[in-house]
This record gives sequence, structure tokens and C-alpha cells, in this order.
Amino acid sequence: MKCKLCDRLLGQPDDPLSTDCGGDCWGCVGEIEARMGDPQSLDKVRDESARGLRPSWTDPDH
Ligand SMILES: [Zn+2]
Repeated sequence: MKCKLCDRLLGQPDDPLSTDCGGDCWGCVGEIEARMGDPQSLDKVRDESARGLRPSWTDPDH
């Protein structure tokens, strides 16, 4: 199964952003939720960005 938004394969053990969030990957869902101001998602996305997993993401607070 693939993410409807970005075509990423879902549920890949070596890809932490591929977690299945109801048909979309966490990579997409996390960014959307972070943009909408969800503090938990923002925390996670920020941490993933710090680890280099989200090279195209920019922190909205910066
Ligand atoms: Zn996606």
C-alpha cells in the first residue's frame, strides 16, 4: 500500500516516516498536523527534522 499523497510505500520498517496513518504516510500527515499547530506532531516532526529525516521541512517557529 502506498501513501495517497506522496506515493511512499507504507509500513516500511527502515523508513520511520512510512507509518500508515489511515492511508497516508506519517511523513505527510505529520507535516500537515504540525502546520495546523498540533503540538505533539510538531514535536515529533521537529525531532525527525533534526535527525535529517525531513530535509524539505522548515520549522514554522523559525
Ligand atoms: Zn506521504
